[in-house]
Amino acid sequence: MRTTVTNWAGNIGFTAREVLRPATLDELRRVVADARRVRVLGSGHSFNAIADSDDVLVSLASLPPAVDVDTAARTVRVAGGVRYAELARQVHERGLALHNMASLPHISVAGSVATGTHGSGDANGALATAVREVELVTADGEPLTLSRDKDGERFGGAVVALGGLGAVTSLTLDLVPGFDLRQYVHTDLALSDALAHFDAITSAGYSVSLFTRWRDPSFGQVWLKCRADEPRPGFPWAAPAVEQLHPVPGMPALNCTPQLGVAGPAHERLPHFRAEFTPSSGAELQSEYLVARTDAVAALTVLNGLREAIAPVLQVCEVRTMAGDDQWLSPAHGRDTVGLHFTWAPETADVLPVLALLEERLAPFAPRPHWGKVFTVRPDRLRERYPRMADFEALARELDPSATFTNAFLRDVLYGA
Ligand SMILES: Cc1cc2nc3c(=O)[nH]c(=O)nc-3n(C[C@H](O)[C@H](O)[C@H](O)COP(=O)(O)OP(=O)(O)OC[C@H]3O[C@@H](n4cnc5c(N)ncnc54)[C@H](O)[C@@H]3O)c2cc1C
Repeated sequence: MRTTVTNWAGNIGFTAREVLRPATLDELRRVVADARRVRVLGSGHSFNAIADSDDVLVSLASLPPAVDVDTAARTVRVAGGVRYAELARQVHERGLALHNMASLPHISVAGSVATGTHGSGDANGALATAVREVELVTADGEPLTLSRDKDGERFGGAVVALGGLGAVTSLTLDLVPGFDLRQYVHTDLALSDALAHFDAITSAGYSVSLFTRWRDPSFGQVWLKCRADEPRPGFPWAAPAVEQLHPVPGMPALNCTPQLGVAGPAHERLPHFRAEFTPSSGAELQSEYLVARTDAVAALTVLNGLREAIAPVLQVCEVRTMAGDDQWLSPAHGRDTVGLHFTWAPETADVLPVLALLEERLAPFAPRPHWGKVFTVRPDRLRERYPRMADFEALARELDPSATFTNAFLRDVLYGA
């Protein structure tokens, strides 16, 4: 009998034969060694079938949720099932912080870095860039450690690995000294100003997000997350909001992390959404296309030309920046990057034609789709856009020669087989 487990949004029903929740590492090793095919399910926040399995799906949520902070080395070793909310809280208690976080803390650390999940900030790498060591259980049930220091080049395939190398049982992350942020929202930034002053706007805070519904040529909200130990930056292009706002119209602003310049620890300001509430709207699809920062203005101009097609199925679009990195399958691989994110209405049939249009018009910018969101880009195109894809495949074949950790998503989308 097939499982009835779904992803967080309830729009992907997993087809795995069974879902297992081992409580010890030894149990996990037996499950993996015995399975014909196995995939690990994180917190299930992806919007496609990337986490699904043709056979066994394993959740690590019942393994001990270890979070071991080394304050002297400024690192943390975190177990494979732990979510960012819990990790960030414990790290904060030790006077340290993560360099960046995604828009929500509800997601598992291992699942997030596996898909190249990112936050925002010109100088901030995606979440995977903090990872210095990956501990896996490989297909034969044996443990394997890959480390930034010891594995050199090969480590480029180890973190943004789409669950394709093994079950990640622990990650060791770099930390930074704890810091406070103040969050300011500004409203109604004209698109013309955003395009003319793009660099000044995205560098106006430690982390900056621009939101638009593409109903008119403007960004209805700009979120600035600014270091509390630095003066408030000038932002002459849009007026400060006078009340707390939610980026999705109609959703309660209480669900969002505090705004209006109230200082607080970084992990309570970097995510847009508070851990104890529903993030985003809850009934949605998401897509994201990541382009070179140097193409940001041209790509936004293209989107503006598609407003009439996009707006009817859009809840909100968010533009964020990130520093380039060296993970082979990272959407920010080798280039400073801008993410063009879309939170869609939960209507797949209406959204897919708009995605096809977007992908066609953005094609000159070779956009890399977010691995955890909805896209229709074909494998040959993905190969062109990820120059190290063949290296990743070789690493996957080496560590998983029996293809135990592949699934239909990896076969169809990544390997194109
Ligand atoms: C409301 C909302 C907001 C979002 N905001 C952002 C955002 O700000 N930035 C962004 O970049 N993305 C964002 N996302 C996307 C999200 O970060 C990714 O989909 C991420 O992968 C979710 O992590 P997860 O634990 O739910 O992974 P899952 O969806 O459970 O799994 C994703 C992949 O990771 C693998 N995996 C999970 N755990 C392990 C493990 N222990 N070992 C091996 N493989 C594993 C799975 O097999 C699968 O391939 C958002 C999603 C939602 C629903």
